[in-house]
Parts: sequence; C-alpha cells; structure tokens
Amino acid sequence: MRVAIAGSTGSIGKQTLEVIRSTTEVDKYQVVALSANSSVEDIVSQAQSCKPAVVAIADPVARKKVAERLKLTDPKIEVVDDATQLAALADVVVNGVVGFAGLSVTMSTLKSGKRLALANKESLIAAGPIVAPLRKIAGAEIIPVDSEHCAIHQCLRSSQNFSRDLSRLLLTASGGPFRGRSRDSLKNVSVADALKHPTWSMGPKITVDSSTLMNKGLEVIEAHELFGVGYDAIDVVVHPQSIVHSMVEFRDGATIAQLSMPDMKLPIAYALEYPDRTSVSFGAIDWADVSRLDFEKPDRDIFRCLDLAYQAGRIGGTAPAWLSAANEIAVEIFLAGGLKWSEIPSIIESTMQHHDGQIPNTVDDILEADRLAREWATKETK
Ligand code: MG
Repeated sequence: MRVAIAGSTGSIGKQTLEVIRSTTEVDKYQVVALSANSSVEDIVSQAQSCKPAVVAIADPVARKKVAERLKLTDPKIEVVDDATQLAALADVVVNGVVGFAGLSVTMSTLKSGKRLALANKESLIAAGPIVAPLRKIAGAEIIPVDSEHCAIHQCLRSSQNFSRDLSRLLLTASGGPFRGRSRDSLKNVSVADALKHPTWSMGPKITVDSSTLMNKGLEVIEAHELFGVGYDAIDVVVHPQSIVHSMVEFRDGATIAQLSMPDMKLPIAYALEYPDRTSVSFGAIDWADVSRLDFEKPDRDIFRCLDLAYQAGRIGGTAPAWLSAANEIAVEIFLAGGLKWSEIPSIIESTMQHHDGQIPNTVDDILEADRLAREWATKETK
C-alpha cells in the first residue's frame, strides 16, 4: 500500500509513521510522499529514513533548506511546493495538516479518487458543501482518523441500513483539563493550564479546542458531514476516562460503543486497513486497570463553544467555515498570550454576528468566507 502523509511532522503524521514502522509484514506499506509546512529538521530526517519519491514544503525558505539538505544525502527525492501532488502517487493520503490549511489536500485526494484518512476535521467542517459531491467520485472515500468518528464508523457497521435504523450518535468528550471548574476559577487560566490534557497527547491547537469544548463542537459538525445525520440526532456526553470513544444508539434501543485505551494509532491503522483490521494491537484494554467508566452532561453555560458550534452547524452554508476560522484566530491569539481563555467564546460569538449568510458554491467562496471571518475575528480581539 502506497501511503502519503500530509502534515507528516505533526502529531498525527508522526504517529502514522509509528503505525507503519510497527507492522511486521514486509513491504506492507511504502511511504511515497510527505508534506510539512516549515519543520526542516523533522522532515529531513523523516525523508532520509522513509525515502519517499516526493517531499512537499509549503514555506519557501524551509523548502530551499530541505532541498539543499536532501540533495546531499538523497538526491532522488523531489522537493516541491504543492501538497496537492501527493494524492497522485498514493493509494491512501493521511491528512494530518492542522487547521483550514488542510483543505487543498482533502479536495485533491478525493478528486484523484483515492482514500482519504482524515484527521484534518477543519477542511470537512469549513467546506462540507463543496467536499460532499467529491465523495461520489469513483474510488474516493473518507475514513475518519478522529477517534470519535472512527468509533462511530466502527459502530455503524453493526447495522445493514443505518439511515433507517439509527436513533442517535453519542459523541464522547473527555471534558478537557477544566471539567467541573466554576466560571470564576477559569477567569485567569494560563496557556500551560489549557495545554494539560488529562487523557490525550495532541498538538496545541486541538488541545486548546478540547479545553473549550470547541473540539467537540467541531466534531458535531464533522459527524453531521461524515455520516449525514441531523443535528437533533447528535448528542455529546462527557466521559472523563476517554475509553469509550463514541457510541451509536439504534431505534430498537441498543447502544453500540467502541472502547480502547486512548491511542490515536488505532484510528490511524483502522483508516489504513479498512475494511480489514491491522494485526498490530493499539490501545487494547487491561480490564484490571479500568475500575469505572463515568458519564455526565457537558456544562453548556461555561463551555459555550459547544452550542456556538451547534448553531453554526444548523445555519449551514458558510457558517461552519466562519466558526472554524474565528476559532483558529482566537486560539492563535490565546496561545500567543494576547487573549484570555474565557474570552475565546466571546470572540467567536461576536465574529459570527457578522456572518453574511453566504451559501458556498465553489472553493473560492469558502476561501472568501475564511478570509472574511479571520478579518472580523482579528478585529474583535483588538
Ligand atoms: Mg476527536
């Protein structure tokens, strides 16, 4: 299987390489292409060990450095600027790019009629109406690498006709580092506090999103786009142990859940191997260690991002693109120390007041929505 990894120096990219290295089957996977934004050292060492045909680097300065380094050690590796070339070389593209920047990889992979192992939820959320028709292209398919959606993908396989049998999707949320905290105690939390995720080890953007529950809000929209389920039939339940990765309830009352210890290598391997299962075990449970599984309602008054996402999802059109862009700006400024954690939902809410109700027909419409929302969100933070 020829695998391309977009965003190979990020958390998902590195774990994809771990999955590939962990297989005992000889020549099972070939890494044919890698892409990164600007991490020179990491991508050079990845390229030197995997020997892909192509390495794509977005940042021009970094690209020049990578090209110079690889010319000395691996002159056959082509260094290019455009990650959309990856899909042509591969059977599966793992999209682990962070944020809206992942859209071009999502689109180019589906257009090439290839399997997209999708960890970049923002592209699907921002461009849902544009991405949906591409999934009808022969060979094109999305297998979610998000743990919740991977769980739902597995649970739905227990029905022959889930659009008929489904009652609701139950997305689980760890609740993040601030679960159970009062509004007052959250007034002055630091960046370091927000980055202390209790169960998952992930990149900084998604970790902050988990602390605000925006990650779960974005995942509600992602579930709507992936599985075609209405918002009234998607619920969120807080489950602090992060062992039940999500659940599906059917009309006969049965709930099917997928459980494993938190390990993103399981969803990555699932997306590579589907409909088969990998021979390497990731996150298998030692039941002697699991004494309890807790479930509770999310606190929607404190974690307002969750309902902001439901609202944007229900409006549809470019509203999810606006929501996601406003959130990226707010999180970026929070991480840089220019905004309080408790102000993140307010920035998103006031940005959404400017949403113009556009229905997107083209990628340019999405890019324009993204640009406008970023402009407004930046103004709102001043
Ligand atoms: Mg997730």
